[in-house]
Amino acid sequence: MESDLYAKEPHRANLVARLPGTGDGPSLLLLSHTDTVVADPAEWQVDPWSGELRDGEVWGRGALDMKSQVAANAVTIASLAREGFRPAGELIFVAAADEEVGQGFGLPWLCEEHPDAVRADYALNEGAGERIELLGRPFYICSSAEKMSSPFRLLVHGRAGHASMPGIADNALAKAAPLIEKLAAYRPEPELGPETDALIQTVAGRSLEPGEALELAREVDPGIAEMLEPLLSLTLSPTMISASERRNVVPSSCEVIVDCRLLPGQTQADAEPLIRGVLGEGDYELEWIEGRGGTRSALETPLWSALEGFVAEIEPDAALIPICVAGFTDSHWLREAFGTVAYGFFPMRTMDAQLAARLVHSADERIAVADVELAVRCFREVARRVCG
Ligand SMILES: [Zn+2]
Repeated sequence: MESDLYAKEPHRANLVARLPGTGDGPSLLLLSHTDTVVADPAEWQVDPWSGELRDGEVWGRGALDMKSQVAANAVTIASLAREGFRPAGELIFVAAADEEVGQGFGLPWLCEEHPDAVRADYALNEGAGERIELLGRPFYICSSAEKMSSPFRLLVHGRAGHASMPGIADNALAKAAPLIEKLAAYRPEPELGPETDALIQTVAGRSLEPGEALELAREVDPGIAEMLEPLLSLTLSPTMISASERRNVVPSSCEVIVDCRLLPGQTQADAEPLIRGVLGEGDYELEWIEGRGGTRSALETPLWSALEGFVAEIEPDAALIPICVAGFTDSHWLREAFGTVAYGFFPMRTMDAQLAARLVHSADERIAVADVELAVRCFREVARRVCG
């Protein structure tokens, strides 16, 4: 197979391999990242870099996030090439170097510096794929949208003074407290996007108002309601605070950092008046720290149909449901740069979805071999259907 290394730094190279198309069919990119978060061997039952095979599972850092998908993607494209499969549209394999930390060696750099290497009509990436049961019926989750990470800083002003005479000062820390309480208590009006609307329609069998859907979810299973609620609005979580560095000095300013996630399509300009409305008038400044992600892909696409077909084949009772995930993945770079339809899907039915969620970025990360095999089967079929 034709393959190339692209590196901003020689020791952080990205691998791109391609199976050229014979016609002008749509292209499909199988996307993954090869870096992982760190691991502390003292917390693990096995050497985190051993890749040990134990009771039908591969153990090691990155087993779930996401060397399993790197491997399944590689086997998919290599096995199709070996069998002489010649797609109408190009099939592309990308193992990107840098997703977890995001220092600019990976996919954003490829999109910027080597767009021809990674431009594609469709892409399959990490983000979802697990099997869950809702109302007694099995579903496989596909992530088609991501919320925007949009943290902000609240700088509360006061006047410094000696802490032994609080009356002469204006304590910025104390003034921050009611603002934090307001942010934490805020429950935004729930609203439906295309993903949440399709999700509710598939699970409930009909359209529901967002408030009605939340109420129903709470009755059926509080866990489902917890999962659904952040998909229906922006979220605000005050997480960090700093003020005086001396015990005996009343702080003249207090900084509060708020983790904020916006709905896909929602902008900081939309959100700011809402947040200022929650806080009310006061002696503070609000400053956005960054805005990353917040993209979505359409649902009625050949890639969606291909995944739907696969799910129906492996489990006729099951349905594919779209979800908007709270974190962002490399998918948003492709959506932003090329308008790629990108989904997160790695089918998983042997390992329990809740266990898998707990093991990602944690000790004893592992994956069932049967799930890796299922992914290869899925990706081979999807490649055949989409690239033709
Ligand atoms: Zn990952």
